[in-house]
Amino acid sequence: MKKFVEAYSDRYEEYLRDESRYTGSCEEISFPDTVEAMAETARECLKQGRSVTVQGARTGLCGAGVPAGGHLLSTEKLERLVSVTEEDGRTLVCVEPGMRLSALAAELAARRSGAAFLPNPTETTATVGGAFACNAKGPNGLLYGSVGDRTAEAEILLADGTVMKLRRGEAVLRNGACTLPDGRELRVEGLPADAGGYSGLLSLHEGEDLLDVFAGSEGMLGIVLNLTLEARKLPSEQWGIVFFFGEEGDPLGFAEAAAGAQEEFPGDTRLAVGEYFHETALSMVDSMRSTIQGLAALPDFPAGTRQAVYLEVCGESEDDVGEALMMLLELFTEFGGNEDDTWAGTGAAEMEKFRLLRHAAPEAANVRVSEARLACREITKLAADFTAPAECRRELVELYESGLAGTGLAGSIFGHVIENRMHVNVFAGNEQEYRAGRELLASWARAVAGMGGCVISENGVGKLKRELLRESADPGRLERARAVKEFFDPKGLLNPGNLF
Ligand SMILES: Cc1cc2nc3c(=O)[nH]c(=O)nc-3n(C[C@H](O)[C@H](O)[C@H](O)COP(=O)(O)OP(=O)(O)OC[C@H]3O[C@@H](n4cnc5c(N)ncnc54)[C@H](O)[C@@H]3O)c2cc1C
Repeated sequence: MKKFVEAYSDRYEEYLRDESRYTGSCEEISFPDTVEAMAETARECLKQGRSVTVQGARTGLCGAGVPAGGHLLSTEKLERLVSVTEEDGRTLVCVEPGMRLSALAAELAARRSGAAFLPNPTETTATVGGAFACNAKGPNGLLYGSVGDRTAEAEILLADGTVMKLRRGEAVLRNGACTLPDGRELRVEGLPADAGGYSGLLSLHEGEDLLDVFAGSEGMLGIVLNLTLEARKLPSEQWGIVFFFGEEGDPLGFAEAAAGAQEEFPGDTRLAVGEYFHETALSMVDSMRSTIQGLAALPDFPAGTRQAVYLEVCGESEDDVGEALMMLLELFTEFGGNEDDTWAGTGAAEMEKFRLLRHAAPEAANVRVSEARLACREITKLAADFTAPAECRRELVELYESGLAGTGLAGSIFGHVIENRMHVNVFAGNEQEYRAGRELLASWARAVAGMGGCVISENGVGKLKRELLRESADPGRLERARAVKEFFDPKGLLNPGNLF
């Protein structure tokens, strides 16, 4: 078989970091161009006791795909669509792990069947393998769940060199145990009743499908060789509205009321997306109109804008969706908004514009981190994606606001307001600020844990958020995660350095 492995050299420097700007090292690197070659390359390394870090598109935000020595295996040449089948009214799409989410969306659109892969994480240059390994969620995770939720099957190379085919429903943790497809039994002591808001190894709980343990395990349990994803028909009616609030408005109260109002929406109409933009995020997006591609085409925000909420409403009936939109407009004025201060639209082009605005919030934060690194190489992304209980929606934003004000650090607050999974970025300009930012994040993590929330909700732990996790997560979750890691990878050769 053709050899794909090369000794690491400086021309591969960009493969040593991801979007978090965390930087690692490796001794060798490979770019296999078939799944068989990928499996063979990984097997060879594992047999010789060399660690393997699998890497997708490096859009990760916590250094999970950044190597900590050993072999770096890139999936960038594994981007083929293997098959599309129809089964029980579902469209099942089998893909190689390096296929980009944007390419998957284009393939499905070209088939004109109306089926789409709906978790739709905002960073569409990510690969399906990476999105599965991070259990990525998009803004529309509110309605469609995560990438793991929409995965029907995965073929995984385990650390012992064997390949395991995991089909949803076939291996489930019951009474602390589950039988693997190869007949072995995995036992986990003291399983809690629910995931506690976590993904992958941290979510281990009674009744969990093993496929969902692998989704979000950050590549630490096995290497994904291919995935069978479930595509769904898009609703026939989809509307997006950005509600802009001035000084007097109450966007968080509005978002909460909108979440409650959806119970009263007619027919099958639902909210698919509920996103919040704090003034820190809006002003940062505004300042990057000429830096971020496509942003210049967005109209100016209405005069006096301080904050905004973006909602997407979907359903099968035009009248029902129209009625739901009227209900939301009424609520908007009730919470201090002015009807003229909205952007509303339907159809692919309009929706794309709104998603561009949403994507610009994290993108602008990442651009700022890259700029800061020019002055201080130690700086990495300082960000969190905490989830607080619904009754603490306001408290969470106030926690961020007071922390930023108290330290004098700049930040950016935005995120999934209905699920109360709110992102916060802290910006440092020098080493001292970077340390202060890390401490601030740790103090927020403790506060969120105290509220009964979850400290790692969406973007993973990787290498950057290990401390944050150790400081605030239930130690039992970490112990069980370690036990399962040891079961599948006793020598710790897969993605060393993540999580623990
Ligand atoms: C601007 C911006 C917006 C973002 N928005 C979102 C968002 O809305 N929702 C969200 O969830 N995330 C978001 N992210 C984070 C990121 O896009 C996701 O985490 C994505 O899933 C990472 O995919 P990747 O291909 O880039 O993986 P990488 O960053 O290369 O790797 C991520 C992890 O996946 C593992 N991995 C990759 N391929 C495999 C494989 N074949 N087998 C086993 N493990 C594998 C790696 O080892 C690593 O642990 C955003 C990032 C950016 C920069």
